[in-house]
Amino acid sequence: MQGGQSLSYWLQQVRCDPLLDHRTTPDLPKEADTVIIGSGITGTLVAKHHLQAFPSKSVLVLEAREFCSGATGRNAGHCKPDQWRHYTKFEKAFGAEQAVKIMQNEKATWEALVGYVRANNVDCDLWVGDTIDVPLDDEVAKIAEDVFENYKNAGGKVDHIKVTKDPAEAVKISRFKNAKACYAWSASTLQPWKLTAHIMRENLKQDINLQTYTAAESVEETPSGPRKFIVHTNRGDITCDTVVYASNAYTSAIDPSFKGIITPKPHMCNKVIPPRSWSGSKALRNSYGVLLPNGALFSINPRCTADGAVMFGGSNTGQKALDEWVEKHPEHGTNDGFASLESVTKHVRAFVEEEFEGWKDTELGPGEGFEYSWSGIIGLSADGVPFIGEIPGKPGQWICAGHHGHGMARTFTAAPGLVKLMNGEPWSAIGLPDVYQLTAERLKRLKGSDGAPKLMTMKAGAGL
Ligand SMILES: Cc1cc2nc3c(=O)[nH]c(=O)nc-3n(C[C@H](O)[C@H](O)[C@H](O)COP(=O)(O)OP(=O)(O)OC[C@H]3O[C@@H](n4cnc5c(N)ncnc54)[C@H](O)[C@@H]3O)c2cc1C
Repeated sequence: MQGGQSLSYWLQQVRCDPLLDHRTTPDLPKEADTVIIGSGITGTLVAKHHLQAFPSKSVLVLEAREFCSGATGRNAGHCKPDQWRHYTKFEKAFGAEQAVKIMQNEKATWEALVGYVRANNVDCDLWVGDTIDVPLDDEVAKIAEDVFENYKNAGGKVDHIKVTKDPAEAVKISRFKNAKACYAWSASTLQPWKLTAHIMRENLKQDINLQTYTAAESVEETPSGPRKFIVHTNRGDITCDTVVYASNAYTSAIDPSFKGIITPKPHMCNKVIPPRSWSGSKALRNSYGVLLPNGALFSINPRCTADGAVMFGGSNTGQKALDEWVEKHPEHGTNDGFASLESVTKHVRAFVEEEFEGWKDTELGPGEGFEYSWSGIIGLSADGVPFIGEIPGKPGQWICAGHHGHGMARTFTAAPGLVKLMNGEPWSAIGLPDVYQLTAERLKRLKGSDGAPKLMTMKAGAGL
C-alpha cells in the first residue's frame, strides 16, 4: 500500500468525522477471537453479521489507514445490479445457470442494500431510480441486443427492464445525442463512506474494537500457542482464533498465495459540476452506463438526491491508457495518489461535450466543470468473480475479496454469506452463486499448471 493517497469526494465530505482515525482502545488489544482485516464495506458488514452470529466472541477490525479509505471510500457511488449486460461473458466462463444466478444475486444484493438504508434511515444520499444503459453506436447496440436476447432465451428475468430500440426515442429518454437504444431498470447511487460509517457506528455500539492506522503485515499459524494465529501488525502482535481477509485488492500483500489471484489496479473517478444549461430543472435525473466500442464504458452517477455533482467512473477510454501505463509500472498497482489525471479527464470532457446538447456552448464559470478526479484501487479477480470462503489448507482463515470493481452490487449478500459459512452452514444454504466459492480446485485452475495466474479478460466493473 503506497502513501500520498488522493481524497475522494466522499472522503472530502467527512474530514471532521472522528471515525476516520477511530481507535476503540488507545492500545492495540493483544488478543481477540476474530480479527477482521479491512474496514471497507466488506469488513464492516462481516463485523455486523459476526456480532449477530457470535455475540459472545470478541472482534477486532484492523484498518491500515483511515476508516473506509480503500475502494469503498473512493468508488463512483453506484450500486447497480447487472441485470443482463455481462450475461454472455459469464455464460461463456461459467455456464448459463451460474450466469443467471449472478444476475439474480446482484438484484438481491441491491435490494438488501436499499432495504438496510431505508429501514435504518441512513443519511447517505440514497437515490433509487432508473439506471439507463445506452449504446452509442450501431455495432455496440447490436452487441447489447444480442446479449439481452441471449439472457432472455436462457430464462433470465427481463420484465423489469424497459427496452427502447428506436434511436430517436432513445435520444429523448437518455438525452445523449448519439443514443441508439436504452435499457432501463432500477438501481441506486449513494455516498458509500456514509453508508459504511453508519454500519460501523452501529457495530461500535456493541462490543467491537476498531483500530485504524494499524496495518496487518502477516498472519502466522501457532499450532502450539493458546490461540491459533498471530496477526503481526505495525503496532504489535495480536493472537486470535479466526482471521477474515476483507482486504480486497491488498490481500496478496498479507497472504502472498493470492498474488495474481487478486490483482490491485488503480481506477479513476471524475467529479463534474454541470454548467447552468444542465442544472436545476435541466439536471440529469438518471444514472447511466454508456456502452462504447471495445467494451469501454462510462458509468455516470449524477447525485440526483444530493448536490447534483456528476460522477464519471467506468472502464472508459482514458482509463485504458492508465491501465497500460500501470502494466508497465506495476509498482504503482496500489497507488491511489493519482488525481486530476488529464489523460482520463480529457475523455470525460470529450464525451460530455459531444453528447450533452449545449454543454460545450456554455461558458464554464468558476466552480463549474471538470473539477477534480481521484483514484482508488480495485481488486481484480483472476476469473472476474469474488473469492468467498475458508482459504484452502488454512482452516480458521476466511476471505471475502476480489470484487473486480463491482463490490457495491456484491457485498451486501457476500459478507453475510461468509459469516454463515463461518457458522458452519454449507455453501448450498447461503444462496450465493457457486462460482464465488473459494475452493482448492478453483485456486489450482487459476494458478495453472505452471503456478502462474491465468487472468481472465473479464472487464472490471468500477462504477458499473
Ligand atoms: C474509482 C473506483 C470506482 C468504483 N466504482 C464502483 C461503483 O460505482 N459501483 C461498484 O459496485 N463498485 C465500484 N467500485 C468497486 C468497489 O468500490 C469495491 O468493489 C468495494 O468497495 C470493495 O469493498 P471492500 O470492503 O471489499 O474493499 P475496500 O473498500 O478496498 O476495503 C479494504 C480495506 O482494507 C484495508 N486494508 C488493506 N490492507 C490492509 C492491511 N494489511 N491491514 C489493515 N487494513 C488493510 C484498506 O485500507 C481498505 O480500507 C469502484 C472502485 C474504484 C476504485
